[in-house]
Amino acid sequence: MSTPVNLDNIRQAPKVLLHDHLDGGLRPQTVVELAEAGGYSGLPHDNAEDLGRWFVTAADSGSLERYLETFAHTVGVMQAVEALQRVAAEAAEDLAADGVVYAEVRYAPELFQEGGLGLDQIVQAVQDGFREGERRAEAAGNRIRIGTLLCAMRQNARSTEIANLAVRYRDVGVVGFDIAGPEAGFPPTRNLDAFEFLRQQNAHFTIHAGEAFGLPSIWEAIQHCGAERLGHGVRIVDDIKVDGDGTVHLGRLASYVRDRRIPLEMCPSSNVQTGAADSIESHPIGLLARLRFRVTVNTDNRLMSHCSMSSEFAALNESFGYGWDEFQWFTVNAMKSSFLGFDERLGVINDVIKPGYADLVG
Ligand SMILES: [Zn+2]
Repeated sequence: MSTPVNLDNIRQAPKVLLHDHLDGGLRPQTVVELAEAGGYSGLPHDNAEDLGRWFVTAADSGSLERYLETFAHTVGVMQAVEALQRVAAEAAEDLAADGVVYAEVRYAPELFQEGGLGLDQIVQAVQDGFREGERRAEAAGNRIRIGTLLCAMRQNARSTEIANLAVRYRDVGVVGFDIAGPEAGFPPTRNLDAFEFLRQQNAHFTIHAGEAFGLPSIWEAIQHCGAERLGHGVRIVDDIKVDGDGTVHLGRLASYVRDRRIPLEMCPSSNVQTGAADSIESHPIGLLARLRFRVTVNTDNRLMSHCSMSSEFAALNESFGYGWDEFQWFTVNAMKSSFLGFDERLGVINDVIKPGYADLVG
């Protein structure tokens, strides 16, 4: 007999997460404690409960200014080695407790230099934190592996430096690179040197594209820059026409993305907060999954969206009726699309994901 689909049972299902920001996933209590320890005085509340609510409300407000303010605070309290270690360790623990078995967590090292840290110190601190979190999770009975993605910020001009950093740390758990930050006015092609360097190094990268901005951003990311995956990629629906009778027409770019199995790192709750989608029910993930694009489900910013992988799955169950079959499909899609080696991906799919879902389907 199949296990009922509800939040508690979804937590037991093995899940894979490809798009999660380290500075978007802090525990509210940790923000409070790190602010105190580091002498950061800008927080709007000094108790965890009010602060946790404030993050969600501010991110929900529809105001870009308030949305960015949420990250000013999390980044503001992460300017020391101990702070970075702690946040990384807790991220691994929290994801593992939610049933995530493999996650790629990303952050932009250049944002954590306000206190004088060097880029190497920052990467080392976060790597140490992830390893510590993996150990604690295992002690608690939850096995997880974390791969790191290093981001460069689109509005800065440091992408080549950060791409170098990603390659230097690839044998100790940095599995790829990304560019993040405002899409409008900062096309991915501004960072061509970095992408060319990464390709020469046989290194992996994804690009935030097609979240707020449309098809040209997606096209550039894939065809000019060589992105292996798309961060969000929601606007690919602008290249798909559905007639009144349900007949679907894919434009050339949408066809290319589907034919080449280019993974879409979709983040439903986050997209609703930033206005990239009106609601979960009307989120393009429904159409894209039906058309068998390589869709994956992700959290983006767990603190700001007050979400987890399990709550995202639960929301999709409510809006689209998805159950264990679809959850397994999303999870296998994500694992196939991860930046781990082929044999490691296959190992997780065959040894962890398939048996996990077989137990739930019964
Ligand atoms: Zn993101």
